[in-house]
Amino acid sequence: MQHPSETIQRTLVLLKPDAIERGLIGEITQRFERVGLKIAGLKMIWPTEETALKHYTEDLAERRGEHVRKMMVDMLVSGPVVAIALEGVEAVELVRKMVGETEPKKAAPGTIRGDYAHVSFKHADAKNIGIFNLIHASGSAEEAMQEVDVWFEPNEIHEFKPSYTGITMA
Ligand code: ADP
Repeated sequence: MQHPSETIQRTLVLLKPDAIERGLIGEITQRFERVGLKIAGLKMIWPTEETALKHYTEDLAERRGEHVRKMMVDMLVSGPVVAIALEGVEAVELVRKMVGETEPKKAAPGTIRGDYAHVSFKHADAKNIGIFNLIHASGSAEEAMQEVDVWFEPNEIHEFKPSYTGITMA
């Protein structure tokens, strides 16, 4: 897939099953439109285990433990998700800022996790459950390219130039 230009980047967002169950597709997606990010691809998918394992790679097991990776894979296959490919100026960092910290308890008010969730690592550990924090966003431009390829076919990413931002990857 196309390499991002220096300042215009593509990033991958996943609205995880807890966001879908809570009816937050519209509210969350609206936040990205409101800041002027371009939606280049968007679809609802019920992930297979194969796709979930491609998304939550060995890297997650190395950083957070194999148990967390398994919980996250189980979570992803438990229901439909919405995958969104967003484009904009330094979009990777911007979207991570809008999403907020991994632990909802720490995520600042005004961020998606901070506004719609509040659970702590301590609580999740005590209950032996995953942290349900509604949304995933790519951590780097390289990760974004791999993740867009996990969730989208090349012809599902649309090249167009919205008149309001003029943002285009070309
Ligand atoms: P992020 O999604 O903020 O980039 P990570 O990639 O480190 O964070 O972790 C992936 C996901 O795994 C998190 O969003 C969260 O849902 C879950 N998770 C991470 N650490 C834990 C943990 N210690 N206990 C339960 N779930 C966790």
